Amino acid sequence: MVDLLVVGAGPVGLACAIEAQRHGLTARVLDKGALTNSILGYPARMEFFSTPDLIEIGDHPFPVTGYKPTRENALEYYRMVAAREALDLRLYETMLGLEGTRGAFTITTSRGTHHARHLVVATGFFDHPNRLTVPGADLPKVTHYYREAFPYAHQHVAVIGARNSAAKAALDCHRHGASVTLVVRGPALSDRIKYWIRPDLENRIKEGSITAHFSTVVEEIRQTSLVVRGPGGLLEIPNDWVLAMTGYQPDFAFLQRLGIALADDGAQTPVCDPATFETTRPGVYIAGTVCGGLNTGRWFIENGRFHARQIVAHLTGQRAPTGTTAPGHWKTEE
Ligand SMILES: Cc1cc2nc3c(=O)[nH]c(=O)nc-3n(C[C@H](O)[C@H](O)[C@H](O)COP(=O)(O)OP(=O)(O)OC[C@H]3O[C@@H](n4cnc5c(N)ncnc54)[C@H](O)[C@@H]3O)c2cc1C
Repeated sequence: MVDLLVVGAGPVGLACAIEAQRHGLTARVLDKGALTNSILGYPARMEFFSTPDLIEIGDHPFPVTGYKPTRENALEYYRMVAAREALDLRLYETMLGLEGTRGAFTITTSRGTHHARHLVVATGFFDHPNRLTVPGADLPKVTHYYREAFPYAHQHVAVIGARNSAAKAALDCHRHGASVTLVVRGPALSDRIKYWIRPDLENRIKEGSITAHFSTVVEEIRQTSLVVRGPGGLLEIPNDWVLAMTGYQPDFAFLQRLGIALADDGAQTPVCDPATFETTRPGVYIAGTVCGGLNTGRWFIENGRFHARQIVAHLTGQRAPTGTTAPGHWKTEE
């Protein structure tokens, strides 16, 4: 029996376990994948938008030689912090179900059962992409996770989406020898593209080195082509790979299975007390990016890491610190 079982070994789940241990509670962290599994899935050498101080956890300094940390810096930082704090980690173990009540929960996983007095759900959203619902969407050439450009050299690549991830993937593939077509549902690129990325993409489109189709939707994905519908009607373009940068969403079915109510607010926001992050199931808390529901830009590492303090303050009967969950400097673009 542990005091706190944390589901999700992302930055926020780790912050919760560290905070709990520092207050004399026993904590264990489960993850269905590797340590910081979401960050592992980011593009190789990706630079964070946040400066390192804003994504530190447990007050461990995060020194980097550049201005912003890379994916690899962050993987190593969180690994080091987890080791330093001697966290009880159970990796590659998926949480499946929950029984019991506050003080005596039984957690079923892919590897067995755990017993805990309280549960924190910090499961993020990165493992549930918004899939395309067109014929061919399940072909192996379609991916929602962009890793690096090298597989796409000398290939026809369609990038679907208009935000930062799409912009960065399109530019990266173009610069590494792919022929890139950008397919954008709206009439223009998103206003949320970072100011230092946007002109680069706009100029590549203007000079014709990246082809962009605006107000255009994908109708069908075929083995060697892509059928899209735009202002001029149907168009079939040569295509080898589809990078569908169409965003992600929390696993709502999982949250509901745990007994967490979702608000009828258009974003299916998990209902919780904003001061303590306790959900509608007593003893079950929610933390990090999963808290925003479909509003995946509401919480991120910068502000989500402070959920740990509020949850543990509630568990230990202290007054929750105030002013720690204000939106940070970084706004997600995903
Ligand atoms: C490309 C990209 C760049 C970003 N850049 C920044 C940035 O610069 N600054 C910033 O503040 N934020 C940034 N974010 C947002 C933020 O980094 C991530 O969303 C962050 O990983 C969120 O942390 P988290 O701990 O809430 O969730 P996650 O890191 O997503 O962790 C959730 C974990 O839960 C696990 N899990 C899910 N379901 C289960 C289950 N049933 N059983 C067991 N484990 C489960 C997952 O495997 C995962 O490891 C970025 C996001 C993306 C996609």
